[in-house]
Amino acid sequence: MRVGIIGAGAAGLMCAATIFETHPDAEIFLFDRNDGLGKKVIISGGGRCNVTTGILDVKEVLTKYPRGGKFLSSAMFRFPPSAVIEWFESRGVPLKTQDDLRVFPVSDDGHDIVGAFERLFVDPHFHILLKSAVTGVKKRKDGFAITVKGNPDPMIVDTLVLTTGGQAYRHTGSTGDGYAFAQSLGHSITPLAPSLNAFFTRETWPKELSGLSFESAKITAKRTESPSFTGPFLFTHKGVSGPAVFALSSLVAFEKYDATDPLLITIDLFPTQTVDSLRAKIETYTTENPNKQFSNIIHTLVPKSLAELIVRELNISETKRGNQIAKKEMLKTAQWLKAIPLSVVQRGAGDEFVTAGGVNLNEVDPLTMQSRLCPGLFFAGEILDIDGYTGGFNLQASWATGHLAGENVY
Ligand SMILES: Cc1cc2nc3c(=O)[nH]c(=O)nc-3n(C[C@H](O)[C@H](O)[C@H](O)COP(=O)(O)OP(=O)(O)OC[C@H]3O[C@@H](n4cnc5c(N)ncnc54)[C@H](O)[C@@H]3O)c2cc1C
Repeated sequence: MRVGIIGAGAAGLMCAATIFETHPDAEIFLFDRNDGLGKKVIISGGGRCNVTTGILDVKEVLTKYPRGGKFLSSAMFRFPPSAVIEWFESRGVPLKTQDDLRVFPVSDDGHDIVGAFERLFVDPHFHILLKSAVTGVKKRKDGFAITVKGNPDPMIVDTLVLTTGGQAYRHTGSTGDGYAFAQSLGHSITPLAPSLNAFFTRETWPKELSGLSFESAKITAKRTESPSFTGPFLFTHKGVSGPAVFALSSLVAFEKYDATDPLLITIDLFPTQTVDSLRAKIETYTTENPNKQFSNIIHTLVPKSLAELIVRELNISETKRGNQIAKKEMLKTAQWLKAIPLSVVQRGAGDEFVTAGGVNLNEVDPLTMQSRLCPGLFFAGEILDIDGYTGGFNLQASWATGHLAGENVY
């Protein structure tokens, strides 16, 4: 049996390894346009590779996918985060789970994750075809024909796995070619959109707070269903970023917004308190510190740079002291801290981590990853209409679907 896998990213690597480990007689042809394996895996997690999540309850893991969670269920139960951790550790890559439940190699080096595959791929059953940009695939009576740029003779394989990824970070080789390959074999592609991106805001003041981060804030988008997410975020020189922003960007991946029709968001820095309890706290501090400048009083609640900015944004005189502050101003301050308004005019263009949308999941069997339309064709990874939040969930989806496809290609 000859199996062709197009794309040596996370899904393709795990698929190839699984075929080898479950069907040792298979001939595996792994194509990638890059000159090395797992280019995106290596740069993921800022080069540290957040390889999976430390959340071990599979049902909970499945809630971390705004799209595709239900479809993923079989793959995920078959190859859950605990199995992924075991897989890498038993192949010489010790992992560690951080307090925030992100799992990384102990070495903090994504190369080590790819190294586990490189060690396996020295076996002669693997044919690793790097610098091989596939230009087309065709279904034939005897299997599939794969054409590579610069080579007029197609390679024939019995079964084909498309693991070409999405179209985020195109310079890593994931240019979205797989969507066209899938379409040429009869599949439909759902609308595509960038996801897991930072927000650029019309307001320029976030620049003054650039780098200032918060452990837990609730960020809400003022659109039809008012999606919101609570988690860490930070101000950047162009707006806001961080896990809670990425997650919200995922929930509004298909919303249109720009300078003429911005996405209005609010940031609640005190999600566990009401406006009134926060106002009461400010009033208490103010009464206790009648001679302190108001911004210094607010500084007991938030970092100084933000306290100074609030006073300015709310047009409260910088020199005003506790005993000069009106109740109305205290209320306004509490309201602002509970709903900092920002207008998002742009996604962090080209900076998104994943592509939302992809091969229509109705056309793929979730128990095997085989196409329902084209026997012998399989899919795994980001090419599918599956995307998760940050925290190791996207790689986990690629490992799990790659593994399931690998088990079923025979
Ligand atoms: C900067 C960044 C950081 C990230 N960090 C994390 C993280 O820490 N944790 C996490 O869970 N997720 C992370 N992600 C998301 C995660 O990396 C991806 O979802 C995952 O790698 C997708 O795997 P894949 O195998 O489906 O596709 P990819 O990794 O994109 O691999 C697809 C492969 O197919 C090849 N290919 C495409 N077309 C062709 C063609 N025509 N011919 C030959 N080869 C082709 C490409 O060269 C590529 O190597 C990150 C993403 C980015 C961009």
